Amino acid sequence: MDKNFQEEEFIKFTPPLYKQRYQFIKDLVGKYKPKKVADLGCADCTLLWMLKFCSCIEVLAGLDICASVMREKMHRLSPLPVDYLQPSERSLTVTLHHGSVAHKDPCMLGFDLVTCMELIEHLEESELQKFPEVVFGFMAPSIVVISTPNSEFNRLLPGVTLFRHPDHKFEWNRMQFQNWALKTAGHYGYSVEFTGVGHPPTGMENVGFCTQIGVFVRKYPRISEFSQSEKPTEAVYKTVFKAVYPSLKDEKYLQNAVVSEVIFTSQMIKQNLLDCLMSEHEEYDDDPTERKPKFQPSMNCFSEDLGKLVVGKSTEPFVNGNVVYIPLTTIFSFPKVNQLCGTLEKLRKLIAGKVMLSSDGSAVMFNTEHENE
Ligand code: SAH
Repeated sequence: MDKNFQEEEFIKFTPPLYKQRYQFIKDLVGKYKPKKVADLGCADCTLLWMLKFCSCIEVLAGLDICASVMREKMHRLSPLPVDYLQPSERSLTVTLHHGSVAHKDPCMLGFDLVTCMELIEHLEESELQKFPEVVFGFMAPSIVVISTPNSEFNRLLPGVTLFRHPDHKFEWNRMQFQNWALKTAGHYGYSVEFTGVGHPPTGMENVGFCTQIGVFVRKYPRISEFSQSEKPTEAVYKTVFKAVYPSLKDEKYLQNAVVSEVIFTSQMIKQNLLDCLMSEHEEYDDDPTERKPKFQPSMNCFSEDLGKLVVGKSTEPFVNGNVVYIPLTTIFSFPKVNQLCGTLEKLRKLIAGKVMLSSDGSAVMFNTEHENE
């Protein structure tokens, strides 16, 4: 909701300030590669939506005290048809919770990065008091990012008298924010660095960034998810959305992907082989005016029995009667199949029962007679 009211309505930041804030987070994700990211005060989930495209992230969670604002656009966090057609290597779960940053809930444990963009200035005095203990004490992620308006910039924003937004409970200057941040960081064993987005105009540099940002990094590794003395807290948040993305880590999706790839690869090899044999046959055709393809797979030199004997040993695709045999080793040598399965054994296991195999299981079989069925 801030986006509609805020500073970018008056001063033109390019890109708009909220996008610069989100880009700041994306850059940080690119640098630290966190697997689990939570956005507190996620509003309409735009940041979460942007982060779902970061391939390092496996768990995304959003929290907001206002369920209706989260619901507005949360459908954007659902998997798309393409996610099912081409499942990704990574797993991804996106969850939205309804609740307050003033309360602890175990679903917020274990995160690597926690973002709080333009959140703290919306907190009541009593909530702001509890916020550090919940985020730094309880959640204790490796990195916390907090952004908030820099009130020193307000005089450059026409129309802003007291605060930039009617729901803001306070706005801090750089000194106020940095004092609060340093005290909080010191108390919970974090270091903090200050930066921001939204450069002031030339000649006004002394006011600082329009949005001030503190990046907090935990100084010591976490010993365990729960501190020894503390029992896991009871759940208080309500889950309003959950999406589990299809992933190749899930055997069901991996099998689908491998079977499709094997069929595609085998068809290609088979077609190449038949084209090859057909052109070889045409070369011996003594009447050049009659250049009709004369190759019939059944004319191939192998007899049924011979075919059975050689299939296990052959490393090259071959035709026997109406059947084309493509050794699994050939299929496995294709990079995509190789990458998906890792081992020949895994390939055999994943396609068993889904693709027709020779009796010794060493080759994929295609009957050229029933091509069009
Ligand atoms: N982070 C978003 C939205 C900022 S507006 C952005 O950068 O665009 C602040 C958001 O914090 C609102 O959606 C508001 O509903 C939410 N909020 C306010 N108090 C909260 C609280 N105590 N706990 C969780 N969310 C809160």
